[in-house]
Amino acid sequence: MRETIREQFSQRFGGNGVFYASAGRINLIGEHTDYNGGFVFPGAIDKVIMAEIKPNGTDKVRVYSVDIDEYAEFGLNEEDAPTQQWARYIFGVCREVIKRGGSVKGFDAVFAGNVPLGAGLSSSAALESCFAYAMNDLFNDGKIDKFELAKIGQSTEHNYCGVNCGIMDQFASVFGKKDHLIRLDCRSLEYEYFPFRLDGYKLVLVDSKVKHELVDSPYNKRRASCEHVAKELGVDTLRDAEMEDLERIKDRISQEDYNRAKYVIEEKQRVLDVCEALQKGDYDTVGDRMYKTHEGMSKLYEVSCVELDYLNDIAKECGVTGSRIMGGGFGGCTINLVKDDLYDNFIATAKKKFEAKYGHEPRVYDVIVSDGARKLD
Ligand code: ADP
Ligand code: MG
Repeated sequence: MRETIREQFSQRFGGNGVFYASAGRINLIGEHTDYNGGFVFPGAIDKVIMAEIKPNGTDKVRVYSVDIDEYAEFGLNEEDAPTQQWARYIFGVCREVIKRGGSVKGFDAVFAGNVPLGAGLSSSAALESCFAYAMNDLFNDGKIDKFELAKIGQSTEHNYCGVNCGIMDQFASVFGKKDHLIRLDCRSLEYEYFPFRLDGYKLVLVDSKVKHELVDSPYNKRRASCEHVAKELGVDTLRDAEMEDLERIKDRISQEDYNRAKYVIEEKQRVLDVCEALQKGDYDTVGDRMYKTHEGMSKLYEVSCVELDYLNDIAKECGVTGSRIMGGGFGGCTINLVKDDLYDNFIATAKKKFEAKYGHEPRVYDVIVSDGARKLD
């Protein structure tokens, strides 16, 4: 990837720039917890966006995307927004830096990546944080702190790409550290690193490649249920509720609201259990909680789908240590913690059985927890 970028850069712009990279992310556990003030547990992965960048002494940005094979050129004022979607991520980052009082000047860039697009690994956050990191390094003497870099990415999604996302993806992409996952408290934004070295295990994503059309906003309904139960309990979010509180008001809420809240309260505890287990190197407990999360998402929160339940069943049958839906649900990937010696059989079985039932093979991505946004030597 680096050689291709370098070649393209010198051909198109002449000379050499500085190399930057940032990463996609996984979330080991902690799903639908962010808007309930709970915990998420992401990490950056070894799938990256890489860019070579050099200031060009003008007030224009000139950038070439190797993967899409398109070139874009734009100014840095609000009215200069490019039309290509991929370029809007970069324009958005520049604008958000400027809006925060930072400096951005014209530059030339070539970039490429291997984070699969739209597979739930957040290629967009990788792209944003790569350029946010670079703008900070090239034009702001590194003065913008990491939290602000993550927020620049998040605001780019909100204001220039029409995606109303939380902070997790950009946070993981900026703060990611090799062999560590990060427990992020979505209420206080406090975070803590936990060691995650997979001796004897692999972390593998199985992408069902299905996305179910969402009718009557199931997300909004889930959120409304959570808010309703929190209100009944007199707390800000379900983060402040325990199971005995929920049992106390059981008669006053619907079965559906009870189930939604039960999932969220249990999921909070599962993240904490996984953190504790990781500190002891107890991967069986980690895996057990992953399966329980899947079950909760499927039966209580009802955001799974037949294809993902099927992948989860196959994982169980193959003796996989842990498996669950990753992401909001209704399609996408499962994340699987697999012992090395079971890996080949699991992948072959999942491909064969899934194809026999649903007519296409799932796509498989091995991931290693790695560094996030950085400058390359
Ligand atoms: P994801 O879940 O992977 O973040 P998104 O739809 O949010 O999916 O973001 C994908 C978009 O990000 C692409 O449509 C493209 O505009 C941009 N993007 C991501 N990776 C690349 C890349 N390697 N080259 C060019 N654009 C990219
Ligand atoms: Mg995205």
